[in-house]
Amino acid sequence: MKFIDPHIHMISRITADYEAMAAEGIVAVIEPAFWMGQPRTDIGAFQHYFATLVGWERFRASQFGIQHYCMMGLNAKEANDEGLAREVLELLPRYALKEGVVAIGEIGYDEITPAEERVYQAQLEFAVEQDMVVMVHSPHRDKKNGIRRSIDVAREVGVPMTKLVIDHNNEETVDDVLEAGAWAAFTIYPHTKMGSQRMVELVKQYGPERIIVDSSADWGMSDPLAVPRTAKLMLEQQIDPSWVEQTCWHNALDAYSQSGQIDIEALESTPSIDQREMFLDSSILRGQEPRVDEVVAN
Ligand SMILES: [Zn+2]
Repeated sequence: MKFIDPHIHMISRITADYEAMAAEGIVAVIEPAFWMGQPRTDIGAFQHYFATLVGWERFRASQFGIQHYCMMGLNAKEANDEGLAREVLELLPRYALKEGVVAIGEIGYDEITPAEERVYQAQLEFAVEQDMVVMVHSPHRDKKNGIRRSIDVAREVGVPMTKLVIDHNNEETVDDVLEAGAWAAFTIYPHTKMGSQRMVELVKQYGPERIIVDSSADWGMSDPLAVPRTAKLMLEQQIDPSWVEQTCWHNALDAYSQSGQIDIEALESTPSIDQREMFLDSSILRGQEPRVDEVVAN
């Protein structure tokens, strides 16, 4: 079975993660723009981060046979630095329309402040203008209200519900998201709130429609193999394999391929790796023998 992890921050992961992910069947990842653990203090930091998402990280993933896509956006935490936030909003269009960018995200609320609301709204308006998919990070506190408000504001701005992905759901929020007609994504964190077993129960209860599984793995305690691990648990517990495929592969592709940026055909074929390739004179190798797959003509 093939997998996509549609929410993962590879920039903070190591090459062993890429190797393990590829070995477990992950053939594509989507990396939303997020914060870095501490606030950035000038616009250059954002610019370099966005450039890395569409540049080096995309290349790095390719060297392990994984297609890398990303999302551009200003996260809610850093939206509260209002002067800098304005500069980031001006910068965003330069990166949001680049190749490989499949959505505006992750955006939304953290503490639900007026500054967060302004930044969220401005980015929703941009997404509507550009006909882009939006991925919303729901707050970890007051999640239920945060999600309701995220959906209401997106609807007011005119985001079609088919282009709205709400992430970090749990049992208490899934009904609101599915009833609204949006995509309901679930982040599987190890040893916490939303673990694999709870995801299995949710899929048993709600079925596979519009439900998306991801890891949100980053620089914190998280698991870049959360998607294949959850899929395995679903299969062990007699969930129909087609449901597993839908929640761990097709739904995310259906949601994000609305961008026109995802090469579905390439995803269906076996990836071919050439580690002799370079990105701006840099390689992922440190003296190792490059892996070079033979290209098989179709
Ligand atoms: Zn994230």
